[in-house]
Order: sequence, then C-alpha cells, then structure tokens
Amino acid sequence: MTIYNFSAGPAVLPRDVLLQVQAEMINWHGSGMSVMEMSHRGKEFMGIAAEAEADLRELMGVPVHYKVLFLQGGASSQFAMVPMNLLRGKTGADYLNTGEWSKKAIKEAKRYGAVNVVATSEDKHFSYAPTQDQWKLDPDAAYVHYTPNETIGGVEIFWTPETGSVPLVADMSSTILSRPIDVSKFGVIYAGAQKNIGPAGLTIVIVREDLIGQTVPGTPTMFDYKIHADNESMYNTPATFSLYTAGLVFKWLKARGGLAAMENTNREKANLLYDALDATDFYSSPVAKENRSLMNVPFTLKDAALDEAFLKGAKELGLIQLKGHRSVGGMRASIYNAMPVEGVRALVDYMGEFEKSHG
Ligand code: PMP
Repeated sequence: MTIYNFSAGPAVLPRDVLLQVQAEMINWHGSGMSVMEMSHRGKEFMGIAAEAEADLRELMGVPVHYKVLFLQGGASSQFAMVPMNLLRGKTGADYLNTGEWSKKAIKEAKRYGAVNVVATSEDKHFSYAPTQDQWKLDPDAAYVHYTPNETIGGVEIFWTPETGSVPLVADMSSTILSRPIDVSKFGVIYAGAQKNIGPAGLTIVIVREDLIGQTVPGTPTMFDYKIHADNESMYNTPATFSLYTAGLVFKWLKARGGLAAMENTNREKANLLYDALDATDFYSSPVAKENRSLMNVPFTLKDAALDEAFLKGAKELGLIQLKGHRSVGGMRASIYNAMPVEGVRALVDYMGEFEKSHG
C-alpha cells in the first residue's frame, strides 16, 4: 500500500531524495564515510554546503547583496533573532497578526521592543488576512513582520506588502519554495526546514546585508546574524545532515522545473482539494477564498462526531496524519511540494466515499 503523509511538519520528503540519501548513506561519493561523520570544515562537506547555497540562490533568485544563513534553533529562534538584529536602535516594530504563529512572533518581539499590531484577523477566528488598506503602519517602525502562510489556520497571503523603506520580514516556514517570490522585496526571510526544505534541525535565514551588524546590547554571539554571515554559517557546527538532505531537495526542485513549475503543481493539488470541499456541505473549509493556503488545508466535517471514523478509515487506506492541530480540531491536509498529486486524488476519492457511507 502506498502511504500518503499529510503531516504539517516534519513532513513528507521527495521519495527520490530519500532513495538517494539511502544510496549514499554509508559511503558518500567514495569518501568512505557518511555525511553525518564528516568534519563540517572538511573539503567534502564544504562542497556540499556551497552547492546547497548556490542551488537555493538560483531557485529563489536571491540577489547578491543578500546573505543566506544555515542556522539551527527553528523558526521559533527567529522570533527572537529578528528583533535582536533588526531593531537597530529603534524602539519598536510592526507586526501583522493572522494567527497562531504571528501571535508567537509578536509575544517574543515584545521582550525586546514595542510591538505595533498593524492589523489582526482575530475578529473572525483568523480565517482571513486583512488587506493592506486595513493596516496601520508606523513609519518609524524598525521593520514590518508578517506570516505569509499560517500553518495551523491555513491562511495564505498571495500579495507582497508594500512597506516603503521599512524592511519587510517574513516567516516563510510553510510557504518557502512553494511558488516564486521576489526576494528583493524583503529585508529578512526565514523558515524552519521541516516542511518544504528537508529534515528538521536546519533553519534558513535570507537577510539583506545592510541590515546586519547592529544587534541589541547583550545579544548572544549565536543570535547575531553577522557572526554567521562572516563565518559562512560555520561559526559553530551546522546541522550537517539536514543541510545535505536539503541540498538534494534543491536539486530535485531544479530538475522539476524550479518554483514556477512547483506553483503550477501546487495549485493543481490545492484546487482538487478545495473544489471537493466546496462541492458539498458535508465538508467545509473555514478559510476565506482569497486566503486559502496552497500548502495547509484545514477542513471540518459537518458532524464532528464522525472525525474519529474519518481518520480511522483514512489510515486504513494509507492516508495518514490528517488530524487537525490540537488548538483547532477538525482535519488538516498539508500538501507540500513533495506530496504527489496522486496523494491528493486518493484523499479526495476517500472523502467522496466517506460522505456516501456516512452522509
Ligand atoms: N512559524 C510557522 C509558520 C510554523 O509553521 C512553525 C512550525 N510549525 C514555526 C514558525 C515554528 O517552527 P520551529 O518548530 O522550526 O521552531
């Protein structure tokens, strides 16, 4: 039986990448060792890291005046690192609040400065994203932070905010690499790896060079972007195996036509699922149509008493990890880059069958 894993993260990886990891596991390219056993400063691993960075730059079109950092600590550490590095003597920053991950970023930023919430969608249970005409930007803000894809709520913002000379910061954990973006519009982009990039343990930060080097007093060395930039992400030991695997994912993406091709496939998959949700009142999507995420699709059954039976039947068919986040309940299908369209078709077919037998 083919298993389709709809986990929100750590999430499904491309099967071809896993097979390559397996083939290279014991003896990477004749080196006599696995990547896990290599010195991060040896020529083999330095080559792996440099190639991963070059491929990521090519895929995303990262301009030369941006640094790409391979860090640890997850996106959650960036909730602190962003204010520590970007406040640069200013008193506060602007934050958009579109859900659970925005709230965590806001909470952490308040430890370092004043937070101006430019707009919030809490009034409608975070089921949409306020458009920019509703935002109250502070012209003196050190930066503007937002979450283009709320992984739990399934709310995605498909336009890029205009913030003038105030740097734009995005937590792209669950949308990075799913479609092309214009990196030059951003001051900082960050993402944990465990959704669209590779195994957990790696955190990617893309930062405009002129924004680094002005940390708040007392910033730990490891939380200073400049330390990592000056040391090519080798100030300390990076997450070597995760970075190697991410590098293989970048090559897989390139071979499939890059991010524009991924966007096409991702739209096809998401449309299949949203069309199925809209076709019946047995299922429903809580998210406003213009903000329906391409990556995380939460949905509910008309009768929550059927949730357990739905999940059990799904599992029997190899459709796993569909339970919604503990904070919202219902279901959530995460359909990242590595989820094949066949997996979404299998889910849609099952949903139809389940409705027939329980509707
Ligand atoms: N931001 C978003 C949008 C996320 O989806 C997640 C993880 N689900 C995080 C931040 C936290 O990431 P990490 O676990 O890597 O710290």
